[in-house]
Amino acid sequence: MPELPEVETVRQGLNQLTLNLEITGGDVLLERTIAYPFSVGEFINGIKGSAIATWHRRGKYLLAELCQSPFLGSRGSGEDITPSSPSSPPSSSSPPSPPTGYLGVHLRMTGQLLWVHRDEPLHKHTRVRLFFGDQQELRFVDQRTFGQMWWVPPNVAVESIITGLAKLAVDPFSVEFTVKYLAMKLQNRRRPIKTALLDQSVVAGLGNIYADEALFKSGILPETLCTDLQLKQIERLRTAIIQVLEASIEAGGTTFSNFLNVKGINGNYGGVAWVYNRAGEPCRVCSNLIQRTKLAGRSSHFCPQCQS
Ligand SMILES: [Zn+2]
Repeated sequence: MPELPEVETVRQGLNQLTLNLEITGGDVLLERTIAYPFSVGEFINGIKGSAIATWHRRGKYLLAELCQSPFLGSRGSGEDITPSSPSSPPSSSSPPSPPTGYLGVHLRMTGQLLWVHRDEPLHKHTRVRLFFGDQQELRFVDQRTFGQMWWVPPNVAVESIITGLAKLAVDPFSVEFTVKYLAMKLQNRRRPIKTALLDQSVVAGLGNIYADEALFKSGILPETLCTDLQLKQIERLRTAIIQVLEASIEAGGTTFSNFLNVKGINGNYGGVAWVYNRAGEPCRVCSNLIQRTKLAGRSSHFCPQCQS
């Protein structure tokens, strides 16, 4: 499942490739990928004719801020915006126009966004195609079909359409993710810290891989009860969460069997994991063998020497 670093890697790729190109249309191959409340027709009509000003990430949601197409704005005005330089921003002399809505995407289990040429043969799990200009398209490929897309009309609160956003906890990269916040979220709950870290109402976007990695980096055993954690450990844990996520983003996301960035390339964090998926292999710090245990149905990997 894509975790925060993978989604962030996708966001950065989309910001390099898809901005300021007119969305000329689209094709929805699996209707239920387009989330309530809009129909497929309303979704396509809603985004058609806009361009993407920028991609944001909230937890594991991707949000494209739509703007008036720069080509639309230039028509008849004599302003020279050449289609051959799509990455150049719209004229800076004109004030930025308000968003013409938002396009939301959640990859869920197996969703992938791929930036491809229109002639590229269709993958059998292609669910949605969004056409940009005459040549390019953004393809949503999703084997397990849990992935979703939303259209948010202009002047409508994003959370009123993408309701999952309202329930999201603080993002680990936001200024609100403080030691005090984390301690407050963990106190009074007699459950293993590993289980708490997977709870999206504690911290947004953390999954099995980075929870294991962060617990190793902070020297805490996964089954440690939240109520038994010292403030110093929580402090180390907060720092470790940010560090492992940053390291993975730097490396382009984890290598999943099915994770690809928008150019269709695998990330490479898997090769340097401390403990994740390394049961039976020597710890990179102390050479003891990494162990695996099950917590709340999920595999947890840890070093019995480095973590206590
Ligand atoms: Zn060790």
